[in-house]
Amino acid sequence: MLGSTGSIGVQTLDIVRENSNQFEITTLTAYKNWQMLAQQAIEFGVDSVVIADQSYYGELKEALAAYPIKVYAGDDAVAQVAAGDNVDIVVNALVGYAGLMPTVAAVKKSKKIALANKESLVVGGEVVMRLAEQYRAPILPIDSEHSAIFQCLIGEHSPLRRLIITCSGGSLRDLPIEALGDVTPEQALRHPQWTMGAKITIDSSTLVNKGFEVIEAAWLFGLDADKISVIQHPQSVVHSMVEFEDGAIKAQLGTPDMHMPISFALMFPHRAVRDEHFSFAENPTLTFAEVDRVKYPALDIAYNCLRQGGTAACTMNGANEVAVASFLAHKCGYLDIVRSIEYALDKAQFVKNPTLEDFVAADVESRRLASEFLKL
Ligand code: NDP
Repeated sequence: MLGSTGSIGVQTLDIVRENSNQFEITTLTAYKNWQMLAQQAIEFGVDSVVIADQSYYGELKEALAAYPIKVYAGDDAVAQVAAGDNVDIVVNALVGYAGLMPTVAAVKKSKKIALANKESLVVGGEVVMRLAEQYRAPILPIDSEHSAIFQCLIGEHSPLRRLIITCSGGSLRDLPIEALGDVTPEQALRHPQWTMGAKITIDSSTLVNKGFEVIEAAWLFGLDADKISVIQHPQSVVHSMVEFEDGAIKAQLGTPDMHMPISFALMFPHRAVRDEHFSFAENPTLTFAEVDRVKYPALDIAYNCLRQGGTAACTMNGANEVAVASFLAHKCGYLDIVRSIEYALDKAQFVKNPTLEDFVAADVESRRLASEFLKL
């Protein structure tokens, strides 16, 4: 369980707790939150833990001194445990580029991967999917939109006309475009439907997240950009849809709650038994609207990156990570997020057929360019 202290991590542990006869956790990882990691490790009696930020190794080691739990630190250790011999399923709930190498390590050991870390596919989708095929490593989506599409495709053998990814519109959907320049982190962090980690909540507000989901869907389901559309659906009840060539559309619906897609990724082809009941009577109105492409330029930027291929989306991701962290730290304005992405895409070297090393280099370059733009 990579990223056990985050939003998806904690909800994944709920599923494991509810189904303790089916799952045993071998390893948990966190970045800095060694206190929560230690508590989780003790509760689940794991073999090992990894704290990615090495400066917290001492505290974590001491907190677990009385337990037979191995303690490791550093980014390489996260990737190593993802490839461990005692592991059947790797849940990757890391945030950002940090998730790529652990995904690659797990794929190369033919693990089943329950993937929340969409950035693995945004950054390195071409390499990850090629390796997944080579090593026969199944990648099951945790992202609710992709889980919905995956569920709609079960039992289908005919080609698709298109995927329809739904989009809540994020925390600023009711704000006029003229007001975006004054948006504070606190405002942007108030998501109307979902409680998630800070980075994805900001990404949802800019629609960078939706753009990344389009790229993720293209890699997961092997489709061109033209076959993936996005529609705004503020209620977040329809999690996404698939349209077939005969005009039929299948959708997956339910309460906006990540426990469902997490449990489905873990238990597929079976389902969890959960006390979850959606009421149509209490949710009588489901609405849909086109996305405002002027207010949300990030969506078309992501589409362009997907069409361009190569290192473009990796560059978009790196610049976005730097800008979002800077915005959250009150060091830049809200509109600077998309401006940083545009600046990095304009200046970065483009590699058409990248290797894993090219992605690493593109990530470093895009971070440098975003920092340059933001004068960090
Ligand atoms: P969080 O920020 O809540 O959690 C991230 C986890 O990764 C934490 O355990 C964190 O540790 C760890 N982490 C952060 N940075 C690093 C790093 N550099 N190296 C190693 N570990 C790190 O994120 P979410 O759970 O919200 O999101 C996780 C992924 O799932 C993202 O890719 C997101 O896009 C995707 N996703 C999330 C959804 C949600 O509802 N939250 C829905 C769909 C997809 P620490 O706590 O110590 O900082």
